[in-house]
Amino acid sequence: MNNQNPNNHATDDSDAPVEYLDVLIVGAGLSGIGAAWHLQKYCPGKSYAILEGRDAMGGTWDLFRYPGIRSDSDMHTLGYSFKPWLARKAIADGPSILSYINETAAENNIDRKIRYGCKVTKASWSTAAAEWTVEAERQDTRETVRIRCNFLLMCAGYYSYEGGYTPEFAGRERFRGEIVHPQEWPEDLDYKGKKVIIIGSGATAVTLLPEIAKDAEHVVMLQRSPTYVVSAPDVDIVANVLRKILPAKIAYAITRFKNTRFQQFIYYRSRTRPDRLKKQLLKWVRKELGPDYDVEKHFTPHYNPWDQRLCLVPNGDMFESIRSGKASVVTDQIDTFTENGIKLASGEELQADIIITATGLQLVVLGGMQVIVDDQPVAFPATYTYKGMMFSDVPNMLSTFGYINASWTLRADLNAEYVCRLINHMDQADFRQCTPRLRDEDQDMPARPWFDDFSSGYVQRVMNILPKQGDHEPWVNAQNYHRDKQMLRKGPTEDGAMVFSNEVDARRDAA
Ligand SMILES: Cc1cc2nc3c(=O)[nH]c(=O)nc-3n(C[C@H](O)[C@H](O)[C@H](O)COP(=O)(O)OP(=O)(O)OC[C@H]3O[C@@H](n4cnc5c(N)ncnc54)[C@H](O)[C@@H]3O)c2cc1C
Repeated sequence: MNNQNPNNHATDDSDAPVEYLDVLIVGAGLSGIGAAWHLQKYCPGKSYAILEGRDAMGGTWDLFRYPGIRSDSDMHTLGYSFKPWLARKAIADGPSILSYINETAAENNIDRKIRYGCKVTKASWSTAAAEWTVEAERQDTRETVRIRCNFLLMCAGYYSYEGGYTPEFAGRERFRGEIVHPQEWPEDLDYKGKKVIIIGSGATAVTLLPEIAKDAEHVVMLQRSPTYVVSAPDVDIVANVLRKILPAKIAYAITRFKNTRFQQFIYYRSRTRPDRLKKQLLKWVRKELGPDYDVEKHFTPHYNPWDQRLCLVPNGDMFESIRSGKASVVTDQIDTFTENGIKLASGEELQADIIITATGLQLVVLGGMQVIVDDQPVAFPATYTYKGMMFSDVPNMLSTFGYINASWTLRADLNAEYVCRLINHMDQADFRQCTPRLRDEDQDMPARPWFDDFSSGYVQRVMNILPKQGDHEPWVNAQNYHRDKQMLRKGPTEDGAMVFSNEVDARRDAA
């Protein structure tokens, strides 16, 4: 059956019975397509569909269209565990990543399971029925459609698709040029021969700078405070050699192992020897920009490496633009926008024809949907995370939030594997419900923020809407791939904190 037609499910004004599926996936991005692959492979008997709010799959890699859009982690770890990344470049451009996602969906007939233009707004769990009723708004007709399911797999990403985050800038309306947010990049934006200011210092600003500098008259990256940057080649020589001498799957697995180990080692060093890592990172920047450059002012953050994400500079492209004089970095506060640019707190005024606000994303939890369990709305900040992917007292729902210190897909793959184990375990034991619940010994657990030691503005802005974590397993969000791999692949599904209930036999007897 081709499930693409959104008319399959009951709408507001229809008397049609509400369709039932075993599993519903929300979101057809990198995570949603990966989750569907796992479900097809490890739970082949389960019926499922993917509800996608937009008209295309790919999520992030379809939405972002700014020049130079690329990954900042290597595709051997941002790619799926089950589909080798075969391209020569390990740091890939957005369109190549989108093709990879599309190819995965097409090769496995996952594309037929996607129902586009269905934005999920609400999910209500009924213990009596052991199922979710999920409501989605059809983006073309604004009708509400409903689907019932036993398990809800949230792969809706972590930020709002409605628009990016832009702080209030005084005098914004005075500026006579164009103001652009990277999340809504105008296809016809012409920056050739123009003066461009990019506000921000994160991965987006660092990606945009060298790309725009190729054609613009001059680009200024205007930052309030610096970010750690590190230059690395966009090709992985070891991966490319291995692929020549070994079968693709084996070469990919070895490279993936090497890269996850390396990522974890760097992160570990950032926690145990931050001063040494900091010194090394700054030494590399000095080597790129020369002894006269003020690295202290423009590239020395006031936090330790990995308190915020490290920014990759592939092949030193940003440094090259700075050295050539086509681009520069200014570290200062914005006083006000003016007719012709931006006046800084220092009194200096920067001229611009175009201002790009690379000021980040607006984080949302669970795609902005409302969650109700047995008629009670769920307040997520009051819940504890279970293994970094489920929530205390919320049954049969898993949400994928990837790593902030490693590639997102490493965690998305593990979550998808785990949910298949969980579903199969429920089937074997004849249960229809699994709910993470605090045990007696967990009751006095301290409540800690969802992320430890992560000071990025975009995370700090929303810490109050995120679930909390405790101080011991399974209530922690460890951000540690190797530890999670052990726990999710090998750890028991019955751990005392996961409560299995709603026995199939009991339901049959009651009926
Ligand atoms: C510019 C950029 C670059 C990045 N680069 C990297 C990188 O190099 N490495 C890395 O590890 N991470 C990176 N990330 C993080 C990145 O988002 C993840 O790597 C990954 O793409 C997330 O995939 P996802 O499927 O979980 O979420 P998304 O890509 O956000 O996809 C979510 C999907 O869910 C849909 N959706 C959302 N809400 C609803 C709803 N209510 N109803 C129906 N559908 C809904 C969306 O339309 C979207 O299609 C980057 C992020 C950005 C913004």
